[in-house]
Amino acid sequence: MGLLALGTPLTWDETKPLAEHIRDHGITQFLNTWDRWKDKTGKGLLWGDEIEYMVSSFDDENKRAKLSLRQTEILEKLQSVTLDPALEKFKPTSCAAIPTFHPEYGRYMLESTPGFPFSGNPSSLVSVEADMRFRRQIIRSHLKHHEVPITLTAWPRLGVTDSAFTDPETHPDTEKSSSRSQYVGELLTNPHARFPTLTANIRSRRGSKVDIRVPLFIDENTQIPDGLNAPLSNGYGSGPAKPLPGTPYIHMDAMAFGMGCCCLQITFQAWNVDEARRVYDALVPVAPIMLALTAASPAFRGQLADVDARWNVIAASVDDRTEEERGLKPLKNDTYRIPKSRYDSVDLYISNDERNKPEYHDIDVPVNQAVKKRLIEHGLDDKLASHIGHLFIRDPLVQFSETIDQDDVESMDHFENIQSTNWQTIRFKPPPVNSPIGWRVEFRSMEVQMTDFENAAFSIFIVLLTRAIISFDLNFYMPISKVDENMQGAQQRNASVANKFFFRRNVFPSDRPLARFDLASRPVSPPSSSPTSPTHSRSQSSAANHVPNGNVNGNGHRRAHAREASGSSSTCSTPIENELGDEAVAMTMDEIINGDGGSFPGLMGVVNAYLNSLNVDVCTKCDIRRYLDLIKYRAKGQLITPATWIRQFITSHPSYKKDSVVSDEINYDLVKAIDEIERGVRPAPELLGKDYVGSGPTGCL
Ligand code: ADP
Ligand code: MG
Ligand code: MG
Ligand code: MG
Ligand code: MG
Ligand code: MG
Repeated sequence: MGLLALGTPLTWDETKPLAEHIRDHGITQFLNTWDRWKDKTGKGLLWGDEIEYMVSSFDDENKRAKLSLRQTEILEKLQSVTLDPALEKFKPTSCAAIPTFHPEYGRYMLESTPGFPFSGNPSSLVSVEADMRFRRQIIRSHLKHHEVPITLTAWPRLGVTDSAFTDPETHPDTEKSSSRSQYVGELLTNPHARFPTLTANIRSRRGSKVDIRVPLFIDENTQIPDGLNAPLSNGYGSGPAKPLPGTPYIHMDAMAFGMGCCCLQITFQAWNVDEARRVYDALVPVAPIMLALTAASPAFRGQLADVDARWNVIAASVDDRTEEERGLKPLKNDTYRIPKSRYDSVDLYISNDERNKPEYHDIDVPVNQAVKKRLIEHGLDDKLASHIGHLFIRDPLVQFSETIDQDDVESMDHFENIQSTNWQTIRFKPPPVNSPIGWRVEFRSMEVQMTDFENAAFSIFIVLLTRAIISFDLNFYMPISKVDENMQGAQQRNASVANKFFFRRNVFPSDRPLARFDLASRPVSPPSSSPTSPTHSRSQSSAANHVPNGNVNGNGHRRAHAREASGSSSTCSTPIENELGDEAVAMTMDEIINGDGGSFPGLMGVVNAYLNSLNVDVCTKCDIRRYLDLIKYRAKGQLITPATWIRQFITSHPSYKKDSVVSDEINYDLVKAIDEIERGVRPAPELLGKDYVGSGPTGCL
């Protein structure tokens, strides 16, 4: 998000009558962009991450860690600092530009992005961590001495009412605050008009406060509220991600509980719109897998939850659907029954690829038919028209009175109004107006990790995975209902180790029998050998420079890599599609990432094959391997998730009373420990492996 435009925000009652106008012009704006960009190519792969931080304020004397509400001041400082030429001399040589910092929903939050997007070049991937650390270091050295930036997905004591959890204190006001929350005060929210308005208008549209319920983790001494019963499992088996009726839950009632969580997002530019749509689709089933693997939020409102991840909390925290839309009342005033919150998993695949079959769309998806019709009449295909039509079932939530009438050629604001409040796991981003930036895809499911080593590792992995998807023309399609099932399973406690997830096993293109390519292609080397083999150089130039799949890189090459990835012998010519059906099967995380030892290569298998197809020097390969190993071993369960680490820290704390409560004292020690781990002064080999070196002592820039 760029600079937040200032203006006079309208209430929900004022916005509602404008909804049709905003949607109508939003579509006009989209179509103008479509006409400009439908046949244009971007400038090759550029990508960037977004990292969100919380600023912790330590009171060492009283052993308290609180959320510092100084975002406005801190951002002002960071923005002027980043313009200071003196900063250049601290910039790691590998960084292309001074990073940028952005506001976020919580007044205790910051967001950073690289100053200039990264390329897909393997040697530039190696510098991602340095860039992230530079950002953290800039933040760190411009905070007060008792403040520290922490990359924690959910602050365990956000919303407790027994003691202050913010610095300064902010008190709930159920009559006047934008959320009407009984737990959090107005000061918790970014004061920019957009955020309180969003909060209030979601509540007004919905007709009540948001209602967030997360299953409570039941320990030996956990107090169970009257009228509720612990689930039949003794609390040590993982329960469902949403509380069963009659079972204890953690209650939350404000947007801040969800939008106040931190995540790690990756945006990358595609070659053209078709490639963006293909990669979008391939990432849809990957989103829940990566949510489980990055799970980092086991506690909410001062209590341990029986889930490890934030997703349902955010979904419920911005759920603006009316009772009619939620199906609690017959439809009378509203137009659609809407099964999901605006913040939820993807509902539709969008590619025109023939492999995107109708039967994968097996859930109920309301579509704005008038919008869809208009798009189709303009020449869009059914798939993309349905996607936009689905986004446009929503109402605009924030509108400023100054910008109701826009120049639809020069602005995308009305389109973005609807688009940017559809918070799905993957986002298809059209080119901005008056910008060289092309079609992009954003990967949004991951939880932020406590160290930049991990954040870099997951960013690099996702970027390499997108390269493999394009280079090998991979097929990850599976029914959307199964993706949704995975999404819930991904949030369960210890999901990465304990759960199985559906994933497609037959991932290679089926319209091109292997035998044909085997005849045409060079001998295949196993993934571990000849990293610099010159026979690979052609596919390197194609993939690294981002030539769209199929144009320069012959199918034979692609197929050969596919064989490498599958680990099957280079002389075998049985088409894989004969061995594997067109279906998603339940697999462990280890199998999905590292392969099943048979014909399914795993996501790491295709990433490795892609890397082997490039002309990468051994040093770079070793450097990248450090990051990929984190993912490999976490998927095996040999390294634990941040959620498991945090949960273990809490439950093994000397003052923990086995009552699910995360006290002030535990919270303080936890946040201190997280900061120490990040700096490398507290070892955590169970989380990061043996070789982790942190960002070092706090220096001054
Ligand atoms: P939002 O908050 O809307 O998702 P941000 O502007 O915060 O977007 O982050 C966008 C990310 O996209 C940044 O990491 C940025 O480096 C990256 N980015 C910028 N330009 C491009 C581009 N042309 N192609 C791909 N990614 C880009
Ligand atoms: Mg952003
Ligand atoms: Mg954003
Ligand atoms: Mg953000
Ligand atoms: Mg944001
Ligand atoms: Mg984003």
